[in-house]
Amino acid sequence: MLRDAVRSLAEAKIAPFAAEVDEQGRFPQEARDALEANDLHAVHVPEAYDGAGADALSTVIVIEEVARVCASSSLIPAVNKLGSLPVQLSGSEELKAKYLGALARKEGMFSYCLSEPEAGSDAAGMKTRAVRDGDSYVLNGVKRWITNAGVSDFYTVMAVTDPDKRSKGISAFVVEKDDEGLSFGAPEKKLGIKGSPTREVYFDNVRIPADRLIGAEGTGFATAMKTLDHTRVTIAAQALGIAQGALDYAKGYVAERKQFGKAIAEFQGIQFMLADMAMKLEAARQLTYAAAAKSERTDSDLTFFGAAAKCYASDVAMDITTDAVQLLGGYGYTRDYPVERMMRDAKITQIYEGTNQVQRIVMARNLP
Ligand SMILES: Cc1cc2nc3c(=O)[nH]c(=O)nc-3n(C[C@H](O)[C@H](O)[C@H](O)COP(=O)(O)OP(=O)(O)OC[C@H]3O[C@@H](n4cnc5c(N)ncnc54)[C@H](O)[C@@H]3O)c2cc1C
Repeated sequence: MLRDAVRSLAEAKIAPFAAEVDEQGRFPQEARDALEANDLHAVHVPEAYDGAGADALSTVIVIEEVARVCASSSLIPAVNKLGSLPVQLSGSEELKAKYLGALARKEGMFSYCLSEPEAGSDAAGMKTRAVRDGDSYVLNGVKRWITNAGVSDFYTVMAVTDPDKRSKGISAFVVEKDDEGLSFGAPEKKLGIKGSPTREVYFDNVRIPADRLIGAEGTGFATAMKTLDHTRVTIAAQALGIAQGALDYAKGYVAERKQFGKAIAEFQGIQFMLADMAMKLEAARQLTYAAAAKSERTDSDLTFFGAAAKCYASDVAMDITTDAVQLLGGYGYTRDYPVERMMRDAKITQIYEGTNQVQRIVMARNLP
């Protein structure tokens, strides 16, 4: 029922703008409005904080169905979870009530600020500093590649509080868009997900109340990594949705397109491609749903499964979208058809929340 409801909404209110959002590189406000109007913008927030209280699998299904029509729009529910999960996992009751409540009540979106210009895969090498000063912390530094920066009102920020302790000297904070000293760079010009703004975030003596610290000092990096264990499952969901969108489109196209006097779907070479695409997609879906169940229970092997689902589903999405372009021939290579957008959008799922090389490192360190 949830899938059917989200699919109908996505097809009616989000799909019609997907090509335009990509072409113009603009934020998909129509998608935000539709998702918020239907309480689908941050379904993971527990009912205790005015949220929908959806479990991890339901959240995956929402993201998957939005990504099936528009990957950029799927970053609204996905990054609302990524940005707010550190608060949900490690925040004080006061922080949860304030910020998870605000997110659920549509008072603002959330972003997640871990990466920096010189600290990508090696995120613990970050330089952004937070220094305690009486009842405040003062933040200085630069975060890079921050999804939905400038649109979001709330930012979970990882910053160094004790430079001698490397990852154990990193703490997590909530910073608000209106905090003095916070500013944003120009949107990056990207290959895909062009509707999702990606910007640098600058901290110039940003003074925040000390009670915006998430958990204890020095636990920020652990919280950031625990968060990714759960949210890599949502990137897998995004990859599944993009791949399903491409497969559905290609399937319809080959039934219509005629060459050599018949529909190209009647050629065995085409049928074998479609069979492989559907087989890989279903394998990725089953792995992702198993990982979602582990996320819901916080099983001890979640780290392996989250990395495996993200890595496998994103590799599969890249294969399937590339094959979808192939199935449309020259038409697939043009912007008159959606599959080239899907191919460009799929690529990011192999890169963010840890590249697929990093996922393989994570899996190798956590073999079941
Ligand atoms: C569109 C977009 C949105 C993003 N959104 C966010 C966000 O909201 N919040 C946030 O914090 N970050 C975000 N990121 C950052 C993203 O997570 C990083 O880009 C990613 O982790 C890789 O870091 P890097 O770009 O510095 O690449 P690098 O770490 O420099 O990696 C370059 C290459 O080296 C490889 N490599 C690095 N180390 C190893 C190793 N040990 N073994 C093998 N290979 C290795 C990588 O796999 C990659 O192929 C986003 C990025 C993009 C592009």
